[in-house]
Amino acid sequence: MIKSNFNDYPLSSELLKAIGMLNFKSPTRVQEQVIPAVLKQKDIIVKSQTGSGKTAAFAIPICELVDWDENKPQALVLTPTRELAVQVKEDIFNIGRFKRLKVSAIFGKSPFYNQEKELKQKTHVVVGTPGRIIDHLERETFDISKIRYLVIDEADEMLNMGFIEQIETIITSLPKERVTILLSATIPKDIVALCTKYMKEPISVEIEEQNPAADRIWQERYSVNQKDKIQLLRDITIVENPDSCIIFCNTKQTVDDVYNELENLKYACGKIHGGMEQRDRLRVMNDFKKGYFRYMVATDVAARGIDIDDITLVINYDIPKDGESYVHRIGRTGRINREGRAITFVTENESKLLQDIHQYIGKEILLKERPGKETVNSSKQEFVEKINTTPEVKETKGAQLSKEIMKLHINAGKKTKMRPVDIVGTLCNIKGMTAEDIGIINIVDISTFVEILNNKGELAFRELQKTPIKGRLRKVSKVET
Ligand code: AMP
Repeated sequence: MIKSNFNDYPLSSELLKAIGMLNFKSPTRVQEQVIPAVLKQKDIIVKSQTGSGKTAAFAIPICELVDWDENKPQALVLTPTRELAVQVKEDIFNIGRFKRLKVSAIFGKSPFYNQEKELKQKTHVVVGTPGRIIDHLERETFDISKIRYLVIDEADEMLNMGFIEQIETIITSLPKERVTILLSATIPKDIVALCTKYMKEPISVEIEEQNPAADRIWQERYSVNQKDKIQLLRDITIVENPDSCIIFCNTKQTVDDVYNELENLKYACGKIHGGMEQRDRLRVMNDFKKGYFRYMVATDVAARGIDIDDITLVINYDIPKDGESYVHRIGRTGRINREGRAITFVTENESKLLQDIHQYIGKEILLKERPGKETVNSSKQEFVEKINTTPEVKETKGAQLSKEIMKLHINAGKKTKMRPVDIVGTLCNIKGMTAEDIGIINIVDISTFVEILNNKGELAFRELQKTPIKGRLRKVSKVET
């Protein structure tokens, strides 16, 4: 049965509270189909675009169904890119926040040992990219014996990236008694084969976009010589003067070149491509999401699935390689039914690519005349004013949830044999606190981190200054999150 309110589903109060604080008023169409099916433990194939609310569609029932008391991971979510793994981890963490679920992101180009340590601790959900998950399976550092839910996200992109064999390897290692959820924008035959082989009587749902990105987004193109592209980019950014803009290039080298040009011109900008250190990629993506700078120069690593609100303009500095990647790139603007703008630069010998894109989107992108000198000059003042003002910093999606949670650091950990029960015991003895007010506890070598929920952070912090933990007074401080 289709429900139009989250309260109508059999969901715990912890989940409903998080959903409310994330400002999800009613389920999206994909959520209406997927949440009840997964709650009933059915396998499901979901054909749906990003931006449809598909992450929450699987995250909500999985967060509901996992057993908090089980220490070993119970759900595995596979994503094609590291950035997406981090984003999906955050989405699941936010939804499971008040159920105190622990979610880990496991991906390549990131220290293996830290992940190994994280996987040894209590973890309910693991989100990861296929290669690194296989590394952990081979080295037996990821216990999959209790996995009951498998999600294959952006399956068509995994196929494009050549991950299909790795996915099969992972599937065949997992316990057979499980629910499998596959999500994909398109369902090519290799994916059908995968589903037939490894899913049990899957339900298929297809969510046609009511107002697809290609219709919602105002699209234009400019004809340009390769050597004039930078000048055109300068002129277009001056005339358009966007609040927030992604500039897509086809290669790392072009990203570096365009970024350097914009830096020289004093644009506040960032860049992201596959040749950068993973740490830097994540930091830049996060800073852009928060709105620290207006311009991001990127290869397609930023095109797929990444959810950033309020991007007003996408510029294809290089025309993308096909219609599908065109739609993914322009879909970074006009999120969740908002309107957006996309501009594509096309050089003389790219008319075949342009034709393919026109065919794919079923219409012609409007050809525009380059803005003349006068137009550019008359827009300059406003443009300069904007690039000289710092953009307004946006709240992250989970910020609202974090407001009533305080994280405390206690300077004692595994080396002094600190255990969760010592922390819980001490906190529950504080007048006005119960076990319900204690969130995730993370004990490392010489430190313990504990989250205090329900606005009780100040109380716990104050009392722990004078209350011994495990027989001794400990140094307790607040952690900035
Ligand atoms: P996704 O398709 O998973 O990339 O989600 C797109 C965006 O929709 C994300 O920013 C979600 O936080 C947001 N979202 C998911 N479910 C809902 C909902 N029921 N109501 C409003 N926004 C939602």
